Amino acid sequence: MQEVMEKMLNNLGMSDSLNKPDPLPCEYCGKDRPQTLIKHPFKDEMRWVTCACECMIERNKQFEREQEAHRKRIKIEKALKLSSSMEDIKAMNFENYQIRKGAESSYKEVWSAIENFEERGKLGILIFGETGNGKSHLTAAGGNKLISKGNSVIYITEKDLLSRLQATKNFNNSESFHEIMSACLEADLLIWDDFMSSQRLTNEEKDWIFQIINGRERGDRPIWATSNLTPEEFESDEIAYKLDDKGRTWWRIIGNMNCVYNRASNYRKAKAMARVLGITVEEYENGVR
Ligand SMILES: [Zn+2]
Repeated sequence: MQEVMEKMLNNLGMSDSLNKPDPLPCEYCGKDRPQTLIKHPFKDEMRWVTCACECMIERNKQFEREQEAHRKRIKIEKALKLSSSMEDIKAMNFENYQIRKGAESSYKEVWSAIENFEERGKLGILIFGETGNGKSHLTAAGGNKLISKGNSVIYITEKDLLSRLQATKNFNNSESFHEIMSACLEADLLIWDDFMSSQRLTNEEKDWIFQIINGRERGDRPIWATSNLTPEEFESDEIAYKLDDKGRTWWRIIGNMNCVYNRASNYRKAKAMARVLGITVEEYENGVR
């Protein structure tokens, strides 16, 4: 037994006597590997061991960094695959985003969430306001910014999310429930477009929504949501009781988000109205009639 252990220690690079052994050259860079004295595990003696060369340690670190970057890339790709209408979303960035009147606070909030992404943990954003006022563009632009910084981001509309989870029940569906669910839980950021827009939720759908919200909260990961709710609807019991009859889930979601009311108007409507009135969109938005 003792002999076996001694042999093992020798193989691990421990000298078999008290003498300092000849230095061993590194097989990569040829420099002598460092040696150090350590206490023998069973005997009351110090023994020499030959350590790994610096260059080897550096190479291992580099390997780990590459592995980590590779894992991250795969995670980003996996998240992107799940996103709704990818091409549209990729095209939405800050270069082609215009801050319109009433959108200033949501713009600031999104930038603050990008710049403090790590520190904010599970603290997300809920931007609500009129349809077509640029909420989706703003959150997608923020998501793209985070992707460029190496984060995995899923951008999905509520309708798409629920119908894809529903579709996993079909026998020959290529996406499994677990695939979608785990991507939604593990992505660094989940952008949930048209949050709470479903007219009626089945118990099963409520349960899925709960699983995602709960899972992300536990994982300390944020959700950025956009919603066409009006401030009145936002405060109403009806919306609070949509997910459970005590309103617990709703208030829990809200507790994890900075809620911002985007007062900007519907851009499509503004454009159409400006045309009707023969004025520019800016004039229309500034109340020129
Ligand atoms: Zn070396």
